Amino acid sequence: MRYKNKVILILISILLVSVFLGGCKKEEDKEPLSKTDFMMDTVMTIKLYDEKNEEILDKAFQRIKEIEGKMSTTIEDSDVSKINKNAGKTPVKVDDEVYKVLVRAKYFAELTDGAYEPTIGPLVDLWDIRNEGKNNKHDIPSKEDIEKALNKVDYKKLELLEDNKVFLKEEGMRLDLGGIAKGYAADEIKRILKENGVNSAIVDLGGNIYAVGSKAQDEYWKIGIQNPKGQRGSYAGIMEVKDSSVVTSGDYERYVEVDGKKYHHIIDSKTGYPSDNELSAISIIAKSSTDSDALSTALFVLGREKSEEVLKKLEGIELIYITKSDNIYISPGIKDKFNLKNDNFDLKVNKY
Ligand code: ADP
Ligand code: MG
Repeated sequence: MRYKNKVILILISILLVSVFLGGCKKEEDKEPLSKTDFMMDTVMTIKLYDEKNEEILDKAFQRIKEIEGKMSTTIEDSDVSKINKNAGKTPVKVDDEVYKVLVRAKYFAELTDGAYEPTIGPLVDLWDIRNEGKNNKHDIPSKEDIEKALNKVDYKKLELLEDNKVFLKEEGMRLDLGGIAKGYAADEIKRILKENGVNSAIVDLGGNIYAVGSKAQDEYWKIGIQNPKGQRGSYAGIMEVKDSSVVTSGDYERYVEVDGKKYHHIIDSKTGYPSDNELSAISIIAKSSTDSDALSTALFVLGREKSEEVLKKLEGIELIYITKSDNIYISPGIKDKFNLKNDNFDLKVNKY
C-alpha cells in the first residue's frame, strides 16, 4: 500500500513538473530572436518568431549595409554619390539594383508629378534637417538659396539610359533616395527571411515596417500607428496585418523648431519648403515596401484631396491619414483591420 502511494506521488510530481516545464517552454517559444543596429541613419530591428537563427539575422543586417553602401548620399563611393559627383558631366554605370530602384523612383515621381522627387537632394542638403527636435539652433534658408536649390530639382532631368547608365543632366543636381531606399531594404530583408524558411517576423527599419507572414496561425500582427502628438510608442490606433508592409511618413520624427514653428524633413518640391498641409502623418499598407515608402512621402506632400488622383490609378494600397486636427481617415479596405486606441481622434472612412 505505502509503496503504491509513493509511486502515485512520484508519478503526479513528474506530471506536474512536465506541465510546468511545458508551460515555460511555450512562453519561451513566443519570445522572438531579435537584433537591433543603427544603419541608414536610423535604428533598425529585426525580430524572428520562427527559425530563430542568429546567422539569418546577421545575413539580413549585412544586406542592409550593402544596400546602404550603394544608395547613401554620404558614403563617398556609393553609386548614388558617383551619380551626384558626375551631374552635368557624364553618365555613370551603376549596379543592377540601384538602377532598378531608380526606375521605380522615377515611376513614382512621374505618377505624383514630383511630390515624390528623387532629385530633391539640393533642398534636403540646404535645409539639413536631422533628428534634432526642439531647442536646436537652426537657421531657415534664405529665399534666394531656396530658389537656387529649386532650380536644381527636376526628376525629368534624371536620365536612366541603356546599360545601367544614369545621368543627372545639370551640374549641381543631386539624387536623394532617403524616401525609398529603406522600403527597398525592407523588401529585400523579407525576401531573404522567406528564402531562409522564416515565416513569422517583424522587420522594422526606422518606422518602415514589414510584417512577415503572421504572428501565429490565424493570428494577425498588430502594428501600432504612432500618435503624432504623443510620446514615441503611444499609439493612435492599431493596424492588423498579415504579410504586409506598413510605412509611415510624418512631421514629428525629424524636425527642427524655429521661433515656434516646426520644420520637418519632407520637402515639397513645388515650394522648396517642408510640406505644409492638413496632414501630420500618413501610413501606407501594401505588399511592396519600396512602393509604400515612395508613396508615403508623396501622399504626405500632396495631402488628402490631391492624393485621390494618384490613388485612383493604383491597386492594393491601403492607407491611414492622421491630420493635425486629430482626424483619422482610413481607406475603406481596412475598416475591420484598424482599431482606434485613443479617444482624442475622430475616425472616418475615406473615399480611397
Ligand atoms: P523617413 O525616411 O523619415 O521614414 P520618408 O520616407 O518620408 O521618411 O523620407 C523622407 C526622406 O526622403 C528625407 O529625409 C529626404 O532624405 C527625402 N525626401 C524629402 N523630401 C522628399 C520628397 N519630396 N521626395 C522624395 N524624397 C524626399
Ligand atoms: Mg517614404
